[in-house]
Amino acid sequence: MSSHPSGPGVIYWFRNDLRLHDQPALQSAIELAQKLQTWLLPVYIHDDALDAQTPWGFARTSPQRKAWTQMALQDLAQQLNALHSQLFQLKGKPVEILMALSHHFQGSWIVCEDIAAPFEQAHVQQLKDAQLKVQTVWQSTLMRPADLPFDVRKVPDQFTTFRQLLERPTILVQDPLPVITSMPPLPDVKALHTHLKAQIEAADSSTAKEPKIDPRSAFPWGLSGLKGGETSALAHLSHYCSNKLPSTYKLTRNGLMGFEYSTKWSPWLATGALSARQAWAAIKAYEATHGANHSTYWIGFELLWRDHFRWLHLKHGHKLYRRQGLSTETRVHKAHSPENFEAWCTAKTGHPFIDAGMRELTSTSYLSNRMRQNLASYLIHDLGCDWRAGAAWFETHLIDFDVYSNQGNWLYLSGCGTDPRGGRRFNPDKQARDYDPDGSYRALWRH
Ligand code: FAD
Repeated sequence: MSSHPSGPGVIYWFRNDLRLHDQPALQSAIELAQKLQTWLLPVYIHDDALDAQTPWGFARTSPQRKAWTQMALQDLAQQLNALHSQLFQLKGKPVEILMALSHHFQGSWIVCEDIAAPFEQAHVQQLKDAQLKVQTVWQSTLMRPADLPFDVRKVPDQFTTFRQLLERPTILVQDPLPVITSMPPLPDVKALHTHLKAQIEAADSSTAKEPKIDPRSAFPWGLSGLKGGETSALAHLSHYCSNKLPSTYKLTRNGLMGFEYSTKWSPWLATGALSARQAWAAIKAYEATHGANHSTYWIGFELLWRDHFRWLHLKHGHKLYRRQGLSTETRVHKAHSPENFEAWCTAKTGHPFIDAGMRELTSTSYLSNRMRQNLASYLIHDLGCDWRAGAAWFETHLIDFDVYSNQGNWLYLSGCGTDPRGGRRFNPDKQARDYDPDGSYRALWRH
């Protein structure tokens, strides 16, 4: 590994962007290091806060979700090693660790991707408040803020208006950046092993155990070569397209069982092992070869939902995290039933369709969109619970947990978000009849 004498340099803080392809933030850090003729240290911090309890009384992150991220980190570390660099992993409080690193290296720059959720924004704000040199780069949407046909702070609240404005005349998505093939030298990190010994050792010992995956899973990761990380993400993207699955997506996307009814891109998008622009480009290339149809269009349509929730975060920020959300009525007085919440979490509501979904979630850490909608609606509209408790339960368990999409969808279904119809109750009996007509899903997840 090439290393460079100490002195100020650039610390690249990996967050939800564990990849080397289409990486504008890392690219920008590399360019900064080149301009300053200095080193670059890639860092990942296992945040202690993810080990804490939620206000609802359960752990914030399941061992499965940790294991999925760990796989992505292993893959990233291997790729950086191949470029004569290194992924420096620590565990603790991100702000404290980054301040220690920056000071150790005499006021080095910290570069990272921008994340517009309050918890993540607070980290960056604290670094800036401490007068550190911080550069954030927005990169998780299909479009760049400057390419939107409206000011980013004025993004339409309604999805349809948003989409129609973007599609007129055509959506402007930049090509993904090529994969990074060389890295600046590393600094001398020997002294860090004394300064930050506890944090380095804590990261070493936080290695997640091999996950136990239920073979009934619609996303049988770990069992079938599906792993967290960029290598597996790109292989899966290519598999999805080479099997011509984009041509039938719209017909199958409401499925509940099996691997191929939907793209299954979300677990990789969530850790940033796959960039949304890379996925978009793959669909465009597919259309050029095999032709466009309603299904290929609809994959892009869903990726726009993902984007919309991101832009709404930039516009509304912490309001999306209040129980009343964007509503001007204060509905905080609305009751929350801890008993009903417990029944929902433990798959003991007595409704076979709902309980089947809750079992699938905790056994596999993945769920179809259809079941997510049903489970969320049932908790909010049938069991009379606070939607934020449900969002927290999903955050703990889903390996594709994405702060924007999770918060956004829960708030939307609660009726306090941007749904023009003001909340959606799904009738679980009708849903079971429509989407599980022969009861095979309920049978699969009876226990
Ligand atoms: P596909 O149907 O193949 O869709 C392709 C991609 O489009 C997805 O990977 C995703 O990036 C995007 N997408 C599809 N539907 C949505 C949607 N409703 N909102 C935003 N983006 C969408 N998705 C997450 O990635 N992380 C979450 O934490 C999350 N929490 C959710 C919570 C609730 C209550 C609901 C109703 C939905 C949630 N979703 C979440 C959205 C959606 O259910 C998943 O993205 C999808 O099921 C993932 O499977 P897939 O990749 O096969 O999706």
